[in-house]
Amino acid sequence: MKKKIIAISSLLIIGVLAVILYQSGYELRLVPNKPDLRPKTVQPSPKELDNDFELAGGSERDNRGFPQREILDLTSMFPKLFYREGSTKEKRIALSFDDGPDSMYTPQILDILNEQKIKGTFFLIGKRAALFPDVVKRMVQEGHIVGNHTLNHPNIMKLNKEQTDKEILGSEEALLALIGYRTSLFRSPYGSLDPEKVRDIEALNYKIIAWNVDSLDWKSLTAEQVKSNILENVKAGSIILQHSSGSAKENLTGSVAALKDIIVTLKKDGYKFVTIPELLDIPYQK
Ligand SMILES: [Zn+2]
Repeated sequence: MKKKIIAISSLLIIGVLAVILYQSGYELRLVPNKPDLRPKTVQPSPKELDNDFELAGGSERDNRGFPQREILDLTSMFPKLFYREGSTKEKRIALSFDDGPDSMYTPQILDILNEQKIKGTFFLIGKRAALFPDVVKRMVQEGHIVGNHTLNHPNIMKLNKEQTDKEILGSEEALLALIGYRTSLFRSPYGSLDPEKVRDIEALNYKIIAWNVDSLDWKSLTAEQVKSNILENVKAGSIILQHSSGSAKENLTGSVAALKDIIVTLKKDGYKFVTIPELLDIPYQK
């Protein structure tokens, strides 16, 4: 009889704990992402459900596969033009966020950076910037740096020179209207580039920014997976890649949920967070 009571009360306690964990959203760390865990207050704006919002070149999933080795080659071929990390002598690192803005993830990321008193670098899609001007203006007001990530997010390796110029300069104009300067930082959609494209982009007076720590958050990973992808690979001078929006296929809930822990952990490890132009000691405007 006594054993039965103990068994039943243990089950009850486990049940109550499970309910508490579920309510707190804690299972973000234990099981794959659940889109319904998205906070109700940050439902997508109607503009994000529009076809206009989609990435012109498709989702990251459809385009990635660009080998890291090519990024390394470009770094040695163009040392003052193509960057994937800063000086490894000081414990300084930079957070970067691609594909925004939106009205769902980007504001949450800005809230976390604000609370942690950290400035980040956002590579924005020109067309999306025009859809969410207030989010872009907030970014600038709060001291973050904005870079160019093309107008429509095509895979520029599939474009000719004229089309590439149009994508980059079109975005430059769209951003100028909102941020008040011509950004001189460019990141290529899907990271896809070759030496010829690098020279074309140099002619537009840009520095090209890659990364050496990839969160792989576009794979809709859990917070725990995003955290380990970053924390296990970060070192002095790292440029870390996350996304502040994506295609409809990409769920960044885990990436956003991981951000605070990542920052707190790295601060404790003695890292200082700076913007990409600070890290590389290059100008951010033309
Ligand atoms: Zn992108």
